[in-house]
Amino acid sequence: MRIRYLPETLINQIAAGEVIERPFAAVKELVENSIDAGATRIEVDLREGGKSLIVVRDNGRGMGREDLIAATDRHATSKLPSDDLLGIAHLGFRGEALASIGAVSRLKIMTCESGADGWEITVEGGRKSSPTPSAHPQGTQIEVRDLFYATPARLKFMKTERAELMAVKDTVTRLALAFPEITFSLSSDGKNAFHAPQTMSMQDRLSAILGKDFGDNAMPITAEREGILLEGFASLPTYHRGTSGYQYLFVNGRPVRDKLLHGAIRGAYADVLHRDRHPVVALFVNLDSSEVDVNVHPAKAEVRFRDPALVRGLIISALKHALHAHGGQASSTGAAQMISAFRPANTPTLPLQAPQRPVSYGAPSYSRSSNLAEAAHTYYAPAARAEPEPEISDAPHYPLGAARAQIHENYIIAQSEDGLVIIDQHAAHERLVYERFKAQMHDHGIEKQGLLTPEIVELDEAEAERLLKFAPDLARLGLEIEAFGAGAIAVQAAPALLGSRPDLQNLIRNLADDITEHERADTLEERMNAILSSMACHGSVRSGRRMNAEEMNALLRQMEATPLSGQCNHGRPTYIELSLKDIEKLFGRR
Ligand code: ADP
Ligand code: MG
Repeated sequence: MRIRYLPETLINQIAAGEVIERPFAAVKELVENSIDAGATRIEVDLREGGKSLIVVRDNGRGMGREDLIAATDRHATSKLPSDDLLGIAHLGFRGEALASIGAVSRLKIMTCESGADGWEITVEGGRKSSPTPSAHPQGTQIEVRDLFYATPARLKFMKTERAELMAVKDTVTRLALAFPEITFSLSSDGKNAFHAPQTMSMQDRLSAILGKDFGDNAMPITAEREGILLEGFASLPTYHRGTSGYQYLFVNGRPVRDKLLHGAIRGAYADVLHRDRHPVVALFVNLDSSEVDVNVHPAKAEVRFRDPALVRGLIISALKHALHAHGGQASSTGAAQMISAFRPANTPTLPLQAPQRPVSYGAPSYSRSSNLAEAAHTYYAPAARAEPEPEISDAPHYPLGAARAQIHENYIIAQSEDGLVIIDQHAAHERLVYERFKAQMHDHGIEKQGLLTPEIVELDEAEAERLLKFAPDLARLGLEIEAFGAGAIAVQAAPALLGSRPDLQNLIRNLADDITEHERADTLEERMNAILSSMACHGSVRSGRRMNAEEMNALLRQMEATPLSGQCNHGRPTYIELSLKDIEKLFGRR
């Protein structure tokens, strides 16, 4: 065996595999360099999603001749003046981006420092030219042609142009959110794809990029614990998307994708959001740079906290606090005990726990009241419907019993032969609509209803285009959509089952998200079912709708007649029951 030292070019090609896996990563490195160079304007142009050409232009401080020569060498950086990895003040510090890019592409750098002569240099597959004079104005322009031409194995792994463009756009968006004082623009094959003019504050930049919708549905977040500062905005539980891709996280101003932070967000919303829905957030964590290690991975998108539990706890408690303050339902201990005594439909009876203290329904107005009878009256009476009472003697015939009341405008209380059933009307209705969709599909296709005036839904340009590719499939499902200018969709018809005023805005947005996630993986049938399920959710009786006794009983009878009606499409139970025996045990009568 002979050990040999690898040549510099090969070393750089190996590093390139990690630093710049895909075109978006090269854009990220170059734009970060421009930010580090103090630019106030950064322009990115792509051709073929960056596969054939990436140009990044800035008005930063530029480089002199000697620095230009060193810039493309490996481990050469101006950003670690003191050999101290703890005091990192720039986005870059590893000194390997330009060397890596130069090793696998045709790289050209034109640059000029203020009041000095301009210079340019080229690097092709790792071979560097000597600098020649350039008439470039102050700042730097970097061109990357034919990325990965020098490493054909990597070329095979490129995604579609569209996917690369989406990834680049996401990268630029994240950096733009972190640096509101810089003007960013991105164009792709000559067309404008993203533009964020300079703004005065983070908040202005957030609403410019994430839209008014987010602004209207966001809760401000601020919290501080042991020197860790958390700031930003998080959406209300009613405003959610089908992916976590709209969660923008920053640590000391650096955009990061971090499992710990995403997990904390998921944890905070667990009580108020389905597992497959995700809030939209922009959160900025600021802490002493000695408390966090950004040197975890060459792409610098991951970080490691010295005290991860502290950061996680801070995020969870701040988000939960905000959710609570904005009317989110955090379940109280009393309610949790109660629920443990109830048994979910279709599962074996849970062992009953003796309650440690009087069972409360978890509703603060109820438990705080001194007069129980009065509390019961004021609490239930206004919400409960005083409709003609259904014949209780009929109840034994029906497994789900006879509806007696609707509370909190979403839960139906029914009396069954030997106990009490609580039905989640939204979840139940969702299941019914989904099953009816499937039946219609099977029999004669889904019935649709034309809209008098088309509903216009604003989306991303890329999202809209992608959704339109599915227009024929959606039409088969009763949903007729058309392009309506760039980035908008006109809905012409919707499935009749969705009712007379379906929430098409949210439906279309969710479908756009679903399609991003499932574009490749699913078969047509799976995709159809996912779309039907999504539509069913939007066509269902929303919680908050009052129903009279007749409507409630009709719902129960339909549930009894529908397969799988014990769970909603997301796998949550549609009803829970408590037997008289259990009730008696809870009251200590047994
Ligand atoms: P790093 O950013 O980690 O230092 P890079 O390989 O990305 O490593 O860049 C090497 C050096 O080239 C930087 O430290 C910086 O001095 C210089 N440089 C790169 N891009 C620019 C730019 N757009 N403007 C000015 N200087 C730049
Ligand atoms: Mg860099």
